[in-house]
Amino acid sequence: MTAGPTINVTVHGIGATSRELDPGEGETWVGVDQFEQLLDILVDRPEVRITFDDGNASDVELALPRLRERGLTAEFFLLAGLLGEPGRVDAAGVRELADAGMAIGSHGWAHRDWRHIDDTTAGQELHDAPRVLGEVAGRPVSTVAVPFGSYDRHVLHRLREARVDRVYTSDGGRARPGAWIQARNSVHDDLDAAWVHRLLDEAPSPRARARGLAARTYKRMRG
Ligand SMILES: [Zn+2]
Repeated sequence: MTAGPTINVTVHGIGATSRELDPGEGETWVGVDQFEQLLDILVDRPEVRITFDDGNASDVELALPRLRERGLTAEFFLLAGLLGEPGRVDAAGVRELADAGMAIGSHGWAHRDWRHIDDTTAGQELHDAPRVLGEVAGRPVSTVAVPFGSYDRHVLHRLREARVDRVYTSDGGRARPGAWIQARNSVHDDLDAAWVHRLLDEAPSPRARARGLAARTYKRMRG
């Protein structure tokens, strides 16, 4: 049986940014204090995998030192075509993350909606992006996080053809360890301790659910 995280959390950006955010994008940014609170709760929770999307400069400048302080690792899904753009991780930052033992994954080339791209663009998004990121990181990149969490059967077919090892979505809820598709839970600007505890406690694993059901049934039988 494959052990591994059953809850995936996604962080987008932390603190202030030097780039102009897309409409609504600010709602996915959190403050440094909110981020630290998140890590302090997750430090003893190996069932949680922490991921980062969009390759914001805060990945290296703010997240990396705070992860290292706590002995945590995370997986960073970067945008190959935006490396070194204002407010984004650059090539040196990718190497810094990789050298610190962080996993590097692909978030594609230019943050496009993969449900609405032609074959040529799909080649860039699904094949070129991981290859370029792997060249920069100095090791193969074979996992992806789907931009906007937007996918359908056609996208999954292309990802299978691209021989992607693992696909991270934004579907929410629990994930099966080792499964090809991994649901994730995004933090938002209203992130607080209560949200994290709800995430940890209110989505019981199938085994815990079965236990709870058995306990309730037993109680009913006893009257
Ligand atoms: Zn994204």
